[in-house]
Amino acid sequence: MNNAELWQAALGEIELSISKANFSTWFKNTTILSNENGKVVIGVPNGFAKEWLENKYNTYIFRALRNFQDDIKEISCIIYSNEQAPLNEIKKMDSAAPVLEQQLVQEIQQGGNFAQRPIQPMMHTGQTNAPYENNINARYTFENFIIGENNELARAACFAVSQNLGKIYNPLFIYGGVGLGKTHLLQSIGNEVLANDPSRRIKYITSERFANELIDSIRNQTVNDFKSAYQAIDLLIIDDVQFLAGKEKTQNEFFHIFNALYQINKQIVISSDRPPKAIATLEDRLRSRFEGGMIADIGKPDIETRIAILKTKSAENNFYLDEEAIRFIAENVKNNIRELEGALNRIIAACEFNKKLPTLKFVQQALAEIISSGKKKGVQAQNVIEAISQYFNISTKELIEKGRKKEIAYARHIAMYLMRSELSASYPSIGTQFGGRDHTTALHAYEKINREMETDEKVREDVAVLRERIYAV
Ligand code: ADP
Ligand code: MG
Repeated sequence: MNNAELWQAALGEIELSISKANFSTWFKNTTILSNENGKVVIGVPNGFAKEWLENKYNTYIFRALRNFQDDIKEISCIIYSNEQAPLNEIKKMDSAAPVLEQQLVQEIQQGGNFAQRPIQPMMHTGQTNAPYENNINARYTFENFIIGENNELARAACFAVSQNLGKIYNPLFIYGGVGLGKTHLLQSIGNEVLANDPSRRIKYITSERFANELIDSIRNQTVNDFKSAYQAIDLLIIDDVQFLAGKEKTQNEFFHIFNALYQINKQIVISSDRPPKAIATLEDRLRSRFEGGMIADIGKPDIETRIAILKTKSAENNFYLDEEAIRFIAENVKNNIRELEGALNRIIAACEFNKKLPTLKFVQQALAEIISSGKKKGVQAQNVIEAISQYFNISTKELIEKGRKKEIAYARHIAMYLMRSELSASYPSIGTQFGGRDHTTALHAYEKINREMETDEKVREDVAVLRERIYAV
């Protein structure tokens, strides 16, 4: 076995033992540079990867390599660059035709995602001598972000970016379900950058607002100002980029702004509720831009993390909760941190209002209302169907009718799966709800998705995102 083969084999093992996001983040562009007398030297693309491989993944690497070569004693990493030059690639790209503004307006107006808002004046006009107003919320910092296994990768990536704007991971793409801390982390980067250098220009914007500002600028005939304002930014943070799905013209404008910033090494940080590959109707060129940087996910917090969060947040509120009460809340509020905060705030309010101490019994009563399963919350088949049709961007009619197009069939299978798994609907009733299909169709769909979830991360992710959405209503 030569070094390349050995590393391939080891990577195969490592891939099985860590999450996909971690794997592709830390092991992408790594290679064995030498392997002599039991000492293996791994080439890694940057210092950040070196640190993680040596400290966190050391045992995994050892174990994996030893499977194939049992005399390995020592592993070290050195920074080694075999990078392609993404900038050149971008420069060669066609500069696409300017957007047809009318079409864009139409597109935004038609898209149900976008709230109609009154025309607002532009906040920044790109005049470089005017003092720049950063729109970062001081409330969200790295200091008050609690690290758990679910978020440590994303947190580390965000922190690294805040110390090396535009230099190490560009763009940085953070994804995860609602209420798990994406916005908090994104804003923390902004606060950290400003703490180190208050003259930096930072723009935080949700993609939805981006689209709305774009349309305002068209109405006000200030599109050029709009674009040049972006060019003056050191750090652009776009939150919830999934809202750009299906908005072709908006994506087009965003693509140009993205490239303009990227080419001059300005940092771009993006968040989404799912990975780029799972954003339906995201233009390929944008998708590949997003995938060209660093992608990190945030998962659901485990019980220890939930307990740590409750402890910190109650202390911040000068509110004393004993261990038992904390554990009770942590065991019962599991989905995300926003819900955890909400539960805590409700308990604090109830205690103050009733002038009672937060005993376990009191906490149990106060939470009784919040802690209720999706079924109790009254989630119905219609919620599932709507969530699915929105997510896959197909009409409910298409979803239910007989069409056999692959994408639609996949969406339909997932819908059937979720009706069974979340609503415990019977197979015959699922069949009936999907245009009078036979119950065996529903059964097969359920089993198929169940099976695919075992092996296919994309399916797992689609189901996870959708499950959350169903309960978010
Ligand atoms: P998202 O943008 O992913 O929907 P947010 O960033 O808005 O989630 O987080 C929801 C709430 O939970 C916010 O108040 C945030 O401050 C808090 N939060 C999330 N993760 C953490 C964490 N790890 N430590 C402390 N607070 C957190
Ligand atoms: Mg958010």
